[in-house]
Amino acid sequence: MSAPALSELRALYVHIPFCERKCEYCDFASIAGKRAETVYTQALLAEIRMLGQRFPGVTLETVFFGGGTPSFIEPALLAGVLDEVRSVFSIAPGAEVTLEANPSSTSRERAEQWLGAGFNRVSLGVQSLEADVLRFLGRVHEARRAVDAVGEVREAGFGSVNCDLIYAVPRLGDARWRRTVQRVVAAAPDHVSCYELTVEPGTPLHVAVARGDVTPVSGSRALRQHRIAIDELAAAGYAQYEVSNFARPGAECRHNLVYWTGGYYLGAGVGAHGHVPAAAAPALAAPADETAVAIRYWHGRGIAAYVRAVEANLLPLQGTEVISAATREYERLMLGLRLRDGVSITEPRVRQAADALLRRGLLEAAPGSRLRTTARGEAVLNQVALLLTEELAA
Ligand code: SF4
Repeated sequence: MSAPALSELRALYVHIPFCERKCEYCDFASIAGKRAETVYTQALLAEIRMLGQRFPGVTLETVFFGGGTPSFIEPALLAGVLDEVRSVFSIAPGAEVTLEANPSSTSRERAEQWLGAGFNRVSLGVQSLEADVLRFLGRVHEARRAVDAVGEVREAGFGSVNCDLIYAVPRLGDARWRRTVQRVVAAAPDHVSCYELTVEPGTPLHVAVARGDVTPVSGSRALRQHRIAIDELAAAGYAQYEVSNFARPGAECRHNLVYWTGGYYLGAGVGAHGHVPAAAAPALAAPADETAVAIRYWHGRGIAAYVRAVEANLLPLQGTEVISAATREYERLMLGLRLRDGVSITEPRVRQAADALLRRGLLEAAPGSRLRTTARGEAVLNQVALLLTEELAA
């Protein structure tokens, strides 16, 4: 593979699949308990070494340990994995190195160990500060613990902290949601992510909804709560730079921006995905024809199968997909419309459709001849995206 192709590869996602218990709404690749933490992290080290052999000389500008709950496993194991990343790849000076943490497995002492290992950003799964909402979601922490966790990572020396929140939860009224956002702001994180609760098939929440035990909130309430978050966070100095993400100036998540701007990244661990230049197809033994501009790959979700594959000296991938120029353009539009920076639209038919949306006040001009959604457009984002992307298929 040529060096220029590799130079575009500058992000790594590492998946840690263990959680204290499984939340009611969760469809991530995660399991309750951590009996397999040692054997899994050994396999992870081996996979990282294999990736390093196939992608030599990569310098990482962002590294993200997500899950599951990375903070739940022993800090020494996390440090060992990050050491392996550092020795196999290069980590650029000033790189963003994030650890996802839950309040229940955060303490000042653990945070000091994470910082000492080389993490410089913590993303905390706060989700709510209302006791009944935390119980409904199946979270193991209490509200006070979440607020304390922000203080603990700060005291340990972390200069960059995110809090994840969830809205549109049944029985969470607008006033209590506003209060949650205000209390999180008072804890002074650098970044806040606000996600709408979604009912994913295969989750206990899905079963409860299907049985009629739980009624999802209406679309209008969800939208109102989204607007509450935007207003409260804007008033506190957090700019909305992606539909669900808000940051103080300079605190935008660089790793997630790689995803949202169609950048390349490697993924290691169960459930992880990667997106690499087409020139990397041989490194993944992926079939790629001349239409390929990139390759996406993914891992299965089973820990035992993952460990077995690595022990057999195989890169433990479940599948690969060729990304054509048309697919890439579709994804660029879908993701770009979620960004405040907007997206450039030059293809004549798509531009014509975009001009019609401009006239209807659903899109507006953004710097650099880009277009972005207005507040009205964001409220009907899926329809706006559909109207533009169907022109690609026409
Ligand atoms: S902590 Fe996160 S990954 Fe773990 S079960 Fe809950 S939602 Fe899923």
